[in-house]
Amino acid sequence: MNGWHHRIGLGIVLPAILLALCSAPGWGAQQQRYTVLVDPAHGGDDTGVVSDKIREKDLTLNMALMVRQEAQKTANLQVQLTRSADRGVTVADRIKMAAGMKPDCLISLHVNAGFGKKAAGYEVYFPGFRQAAAAGAGSSAPILKDMEQNRSLNDSVRLAQRTQNALESVFPRKGRGLRDAPCPLLEGVTAPGIVVEVGFATHPEDRKALGEEQTQRAVARALVRGLQEYFQKNP
Ligand SMILES: [Zn+2]
Repeated sequence: MNGWHHRIGLGIVLPAILLALCSAPGWGAQQQRYTVLVDPAHGGDDTGVVSDKIREKDLTLNMALMVRQEAQKTANLQVQLTRSADRGVTVADRIKMAAGMKPDCLISLHVNAGFGKKAAGYEVYFPGFRQAAAAGAGSSAPILKDMEQNRSLNDSVRLAQRTQNALESVFPRKGRGLRDAPCPLLEGVTAPGIVVEVGFATHPEDRKALGEEQTQRAVARALVRGLQEYFQKNP
């Protein structure tokens, strides 16, 4: 009787164990990995915005390095940076890097300034539709290339939306909306891409928050969360 019990027991338990193992992450089908190119804007002699003791080039680099760290904790995101130190990189070189890397998407990080001292909050830009349409008109670009560009633009808008939603948790009600604007880096890269202006260095509260490591970390986590959302709904 004991042996019979055993056989029945194993017959039920073994498949259950195998099923559990196969559905665990890392088993069965290989999980898709995505490459994200994160671009800390400015660097080297190009400081970007300087306000009080804050320099844009330092903030963008700190946040980009943190995005890479946070992405390392995920199973599916691999982050590459256009620079991982304080050095100058031209936009042309950044575009070249993206062309060689063929990332699944690109996020360029900036810190805002201006619009008077009262302007605060974050902005998310995607490549200009009008600019893309103008570039397509009159050129002999094949239709396929056009379709690819449209798809990439739509993906850019989706990425912008996910990123905006994720940043809302870090800067509640401080979103200044999605903006469509021509940007040389985004126009030069075929992958979907956005520019995030993380806050205003010219606004006292924004400046104080941006200077704190805690805020930078929260921004990095939010960006990674936005990317996860984007890839989940956009495989
Ligand atoms: Zn900038």
